[in-house]
Amino acid sequence: RMSKVHNFNAGPSVLPQAVLAQAQAELLDYQGRGMSILEMSHRSKEYEAINAQAEERMKSLLGLSDSYRVLFMQGGASSQFALIPLNLLPADGVADYIVTGSWGEKALEEAKRIGNVNVAANTAEGNFRSLPSADEIKLSANPAYVHLTTNETIQGVQWSALPDVGTAPLIADMSSDILSRPLDANRFAMIYAGAQKNIGPAGVTVVVVRENLIAQGRKDLPMIMRYSTFAKNNSLYNTPPAFAVYMVNLVLGWIAEHGGLESMAIRNADKATQIYAAIDRSGGFYRGHAAAEARSQMNITFRLPDEALEKKFVAEAQAHGMVGLAGHRSVGGIRASIYNALEPEACIALSGFMDEFAQKNG
Ligand code: PMP
Repeated sequence: RMSKVHNFNAGPSVLPQAVLAQAQAELLDYQGRGMSILEMSHRSKEYEAINAQAEERMKSLLGLSDSYRVLFMQGGASSQFALIPLNLLPADGVADYIVTGSWGEKALEEAKRIGNVNVAANTAEGNFRSLPSADEIKLSANPAYVHLTTNETIQGVQWSALPDVGTAPLIADMSSDILSRPLDANRFAMIYAGAQKNIGPAGVTVVVVRENLIAQGRKDLPMIMRYSTFAKNNSLYNTPPAFAVYMVNLVLGWIAEHGGLESMAIRNADKATQIYAAIDRSGGFYRGHAAAEARSQMNITFRLPDEALEKKFVAEAQAHGMVGLAGHRSVGGIRASIYNALEPEACIALSGFMDEFAQKNG
């Protein structure tokens, strides 16, 4: 393999080297079957074993009780923006949305097309730099659910301690921080994530959902849009994204082997500290987007004195083997995405480069 780059892509993004190597080794002949996993029926016992193991590993990593199901769906997290209100927001109900960035905003907009929503909090006015305090969150009396985004990938704003939503079912978009740190998963009615950041390639969306919520889902939707269809059929109602689920299963195995969520959290915090420290010691040359207490451990966003310098920064970083550092096209600036699989050396290299770049250009 060619010399490896430090991959700061926001998603699809870096995967564990060991997982890629295993996928490569198994690609042409899966477990002695004389064919690739890519060519195999999703009704084969081989695929069923992968599907079951991926569900088990997800439950075990998250410490989920038996009242949860893990579903493997398609359409990305964006499809969930629509499927959640379609299934779970009754005509006479209201859903609460806590909006802390661009993705939460998208989820809210989609829900508005479907039913009644209450914007319980929205930090757009502050340009999504901080998180709402407890008294800034105005929940409705009896919401069908409360939706939030645990990590806003574009702005680089992440909840550390989650807000108290009482007994309302809490639904979280964890696309960009799932399995990056320990959390009390049993507090959530539903967790969903596109796989392509922390847990695998693009093509599969992981949905962790409490069984009582599945049972409450609307019964007049097309079969393919109901959570109950996926739950009843173990995500095998129709052809699943089999290769993506296979990859997710390998990544989940890699996380478990590397000490699980506690160890991921330590690794990620150490990586994030490297880069935030470079921002903080730059004397204002780098300006972090997120307020200190809302800083993401997954997507680190910052600006330079002007856009020309930002372009130069991205180009020079690339020349030093660090790729994927341009901010999201909607906000500009710099974004370093440092998901689970990114090796600590990448962040050490980036912080060193940042120091030098600031020296030369400040
Ligand atoms: N939510 C979050 C937090 C995201 O980061 C993304 C993707 N960047 C999405 C939703 C949309 O995901 P998808 O592209 O899988 O629809």
